[in-house]
Amino acid sequence: MLTFSLQSGSNGNAIYVEAGDVRLLFDAGISGVEAERRMQRHGRDIRDVCALIISHEHRDHVCCAGVYQRKFRLPIYITPPTLAAISREAGRLGDVRFFFSGQTLEFGPVRVYTIRTPHDACDGVAFVVEHDGRRLGILTDLGHRFDGLAEIVESVDAAYLEFNHDAHLLRTGSYAPRLKARIAGPGGHLSNDDAAALVAACGRNRPAWIAMAHLSGENNTPEHASATVRERVGADYPAFLAGRHDVSAIMKC
Ligand SMILES: [Zn+2]
Ligand SMILES: [Zn+2]
Repeated sequence: MLTFSLQSGSNGNAIYVEAGDVRLLFDAGISGVEAERRMQRHGRDIRDVCALIISHEHRDHVCCAGVYQRKFRLPIYITPPTLAAISREAGRLGDVRFFFSGQTLEFGPVRVYTIRTPHDACDGVAFVVEHDGRRLGILTDLGHRFDGLAEIVESVDAAYLEFNHDAHLLRTGSYAPRLKARIAGPGGHLSNDDAAALVAACGRNRPAWIAMAHLSGENNTPEHASATVRERVGADYPAFLAGRHDVSAIMKC
């Protein structure tokens, strides 16, 4: 299995996963033009994607779903409540395939487990993609360290993991108190400490690598996230960045 992030952050998300012949795109939070261009950077044509799978209705994940569907003819996999939440802004969608949160999707030999999260979306999910005995987590917009999350992190070979904010930068930053409370609250996002602690708790069973994902532009920096991993997990641990502004390197799982 191989993967790269087209972009990850509160400014827009899209993650590509390729397993054998199966090509999947998770979320549609950057423009069609940029998505196509960033796929081409790694020699991929976005029109070859067989499923666009939507995690939840927040704009940074769905704002361009309608464009991808109409321009690139991608089938959209989405839960009924999430579709209802985006139907007005998404425009007319021609090829919608429903799943239910918690359901396992199958694309030939590839399985996509959908995992309900306590993030403040109507029916949000995170994902584990499984192929040929390998498991890749796509774990962002998690709310908090909910029951079962540690076991999921321990079970994967590699993962995108949410490092949304540095707790100190969030506390002392410019956001309004209500927004700070939402982000740090049970329906918000994991902090650097939350994410690094999850990896550290895996001990020997930790994923071979993580990609630090969904960083805030206001309340985090790649340096803060990396420093937390170094302190909590170890200086040698491979933690890549799924960045806010460009496509990542290709990572193998
Ligand atoms: Zn998000
Ligand atoms: Zn969200």
